[in-house]
Amino acid sequence: MNFDLLILGAGPAGLCMTRALSGHGLTIGVVEQQPDSALREPAFDGREIALTQRSAATLRQLGLWQRIEQTDPAALSPLRDAQVLNGASPHTMRISHTLTRRSELGWLVSNHLIRRAAWDAAQEATRTHGDVHWFTSQPVRQARVQPDAAHITLADGSAHTARLLIAADSRFSNTRRAVGIGASQHDFGRTMLVCQMTHEADHEHVAWEWFGHGQTLALLPMNDDPATGAHRASAVLTLPHQQIDAMLALDEAAFGADMARRFGHRLGAMQLASTRHAYPLVGVYPHRLVAQRLACVGDAAVGMHPVTAHGFNFGLAGVETLSGLLRQAHASGHDIATTDLLARYQRQHRLATRPLYEATRLIAQLYTAESPPARLLREAALRVAERVTPFKRIVAASLAGGH
Ligand SMILES: Cc1cc2nc3c(=O)[nH]c(=O)nc-3n(C[C@H](O)[C@H](O)[C@H](O)COP(=O)(O)OP(=O)(O)OC[C@H]3O[C@@H](n4cnc5c(N)ncnc54)[C@H](O)[C@@H]3O)c2cc1C
Repeated sequence: MNFDLLILGAGPAGLCMTRALSGHGLTIGVVEQQPDSALREPAFDGREIALTQRSAATLRQLGLWQRIEQTDPAALSPLRDAQVLNGASPHTMRISHTLTRRSELGWLVSNHLIRRAAWDAAQEATRTHGDVHWFTSQPVRQARVQPDAAHITLADGSAHTARLLIAADSRFSNTRRAVGIGASQHDFGRTMLVCQMTHEADHEHVAWEWFGHGQTLALLPMNDDPATGAHRASAVLTLPHQQIDAMLALDEAAFGADMARRFGHRLGAMQLASTRHAYPLVGVYPHRLVAQRLACVGDAAVGMHPVTAHGFNFGLAGVETLSGLLRQAHASGHDIATTDLLARYQRQHRLATRPLYEATRLIAQLYTAESPPARLLREAALRVAERVTPFKRIVAASLAGGH
């Protein structure tokens, strides 16, 4: 079949891109290796996604927010403030929503709920406009770009062409590699364990990032469990992989007790409230975000370390930028795959993402280093940052938008 656009990968970024482009006169093919059933009812994967206010606005525009709200209003948890702690030091850096005009810095939503809402929204757009063709349970076997068209071959042997390929097939994108784009990868040598927990003390909707000695902890505040009223949060523990294996092997009671100890009993008793999931931490930044008749979005464009909670926020920003340029070009009768358009997308998205990608890499390295100078340096950095209100205002504005 022949399309204007082929979107490769129906993760949250590919699905949001599909939803953003459907209804604008373009024919779209979407290819995904997972079956329909896994896309319709995505399994819980442990990730609670911290969304900036800008991302929340984009999700409203795409109709995802309303779907999540209708299904479960308690699924959208406000993130009022954020605090950073260093080891046993009493000094914290607090970024408060009061530095902004909003009553919260951002929001937390489970990744599987975002994926489900994105699938539903893209399916509804398909029914309304009839412009999307779905190839599910179909890994892309080959991708090739040529001056006149892009070509793909799927696992069933079928071949398809498009004017433009959009690679949304994860940070280890095969499509990106197939067309010759390399990437800088940084393996942090750490694995992140994520799960939901209930706990005795109220978190007051404050997120924690706690750089302890030999471990990094984060607490992402969720709404109380609507069924039991228990205080609830997503707990995030980063350790060398062999230690994460040991944590995964603990029974529920021992895991709860160990996490309460790791959190210094500041939240009282803690209980495991979900399955546990482990993610090895590898940051990926491609050397280019575009090639002839190809653009990368989502993690395929920027594979962030999750510590600054920006992977999907950047994914949505890329969807906004690229879909805007494509809609504009198509509406004014121009080619959607010109070198100029692709270069503009690359420029804008790099500018929006590269500084935080590099800063995140440095922060993650500094805050996992165990040498005494590194400990002193991060303590000093935290104290300075806490006192510099303009710095905190900038961080708050980057989450909440405006001032
Ligand atoms: C522990 C953790 C916490 C996080 N927390 C946050 C947060 O707080 N805030 C935030 O903004 N981000 C966060 N992120 C990042 C966020 O989860 C990702 O940025 C986002 O899920 C990436 O979506 P994507 O669609 O680009 O890629 P993916 O979710 O990787 O989807 C890629 C899709 O492509 C498909 N695919 C791959 N190869 C092929 C092929 N050959 N053929 C067909 N299909 C293919 C896959 O099956 C998949 O469906 C976190 C990530 C982790 C791991």
